Amino acid sequence: MAERTIAAIATSLGEGSVGIIRISGTEAFDIADKVFLSVSGKKISDISGYCALFGEVRNGEKRIDEAVALKFVAPKSYTGENVVELSVHGGTLLVKEVLRAVLTAGAVLAQPGEFTKRAFLNGKMDLVKAESVMGLIKASNTSELRISQSVHGGGVSKQLNAIEEKLVSAAASIAAYCDYPEEDIGQINEETFIRELSCVALSFEKMLSEYDAGKVLREGIETVIIGRPNVGKSTLMNLLSGQTKSIVTDVAGTTRDVIEETVMLGEVPLHLADTAGIRESNDEVESVGVSLARQRLESAQLVLAVFCANDKLTDEDIKLLEECKDKPLIVIINKCDLGEEIIGDFAKGTEIVRMSAKLGQGIDALKDAVARVTATENLSPDSAVLISERQRDLANRAMLCVNEALNCIKSGVTPDAVGVCVDEALACLYEMTGKRATETVTEEIFRKFCVGK
Ligand code: GDP
Repeated sequence: MAERTIAAIATSLGEGSVGIIRISGTEAFDIADKVFLSVSGKKISDISGYCALFGEVRNGEKRIDEAVALKFVAPKSYTGENVVELSVHGGTLLVKEVLRAVLTAGAVLAQPGEFTKRAFLNGKMDLVKAESVMGLIKASNTSELRISQSVHGGGVSKQLNAIEEKLVSAAASIAAYCDYPEEDIGQINEETFIRELSCVALSFEKMLSEYDAGKVLREGIETVIIGRPNVGKSTLMNLLSGQTKSIVTDVAGTTRDVIEETVMLGEVPLHLADTAGIRESNDEVESVGVSLARQRLESAQLVLAVFCANDKLTDEDIKLLEECKDKPLIVIINKCDLGEEIIGDFAKGTEIVRMSAKLGQGIDALKDAVARVTATENLSPDSAVLISERQRDLANRAMLCVNEALNCIKSGVTPDAVGVCVDEALACLYEMTGKRATETVTEEIFRKFCVGK
């Protein structure tokens, strides 16, 4: 059965200068002609593709708004199908009314991600690229956007295609050898074979090793600022966020709640939490704050432990350092502008950054330390990296199969066993790009999209 023609509001709901209703499918032109009347009297069905008409959208006799209708002819459209985009004024109720008219004219409401799903099914993009589309839309920091742009630009797909070529050629030579073992054409050049498969294994290894760093750049990292009262935690929070988020005073115990803010430090988004200074206190409210600070410490992925440069190390400092020794940690010796009494040796073996949060000194050193501790220093957000657990899992499975194939060759196992491993690696690759992905897999991916995309 032919796919029904779908429609949805393609722009975000809210006040905007333009709102777009997208119609896609075999009936797109006829449906659009039922709701759109051009000033020139021309019909959308009759004009050439990639032409626009000016006129009005109507629901029966009722004029809804003036509109521009833009025509795309299959297969040269986003979905690969016939598409019409109706641009009207961008009012929420207005675009909803236009959509209702389009649905009344015969279209069905698109499911979440159905336009992109159709684009995928019509060979407009592979699954890896499709998965980057929501990253482009939802990116909440520049690193996530840059990674999504690289993947959407084909960076990962290109690498996967190169791997596919190597695996297909390996699978073909094994198949030829198994089919015609006695003939020359089937002879496997073991050295070349091992070289090519090792190269594939290395590519997967690199992708996997970069995945975690890419995830940090895309999603950011839960970071807690802790330390005794008055060491400069709130001043640091304000310095990093570029605004007064936390109250700074000389009075110990001022910050009692957890103050949160997401900041970019270099390429890394830090979800910062400034906490109450950790100390024993008889004040009930402050004690609750201290307990919240400890909870944050527990769940943090990165700890910025702040110490005061011009104080001697206290027992509380040592206890605090002990509490965060199992976490990715950066020790900040703050107030360096006042001279240094504290001995840096106490935190030997950890990243130590000397700063003056008050004077804004030491930020670059902190940036470098964060990049090192989060293992993102060698990864540019413009690199093409895997962007979902699904892709990571399949890359890992493919790599294991390729390694297994290499072990088989080296230990002299029969070529057909090697062939099985190579075929399994290929199957993982095909699932990754969507060449052979099941309906359930594609459903799962596009379910996370928004309606209209
Ligand atoms: P918190 O209790 O750890 O959050 O500390 P605050 O950020 O409230 O700072 C306590 C006091 O130390 C304030 O008077 C700040 O102005 C001061 N302070 C913070 N950082 C520095 C610094 O780097 N140098 C100097 N000289 N004073 C600082």
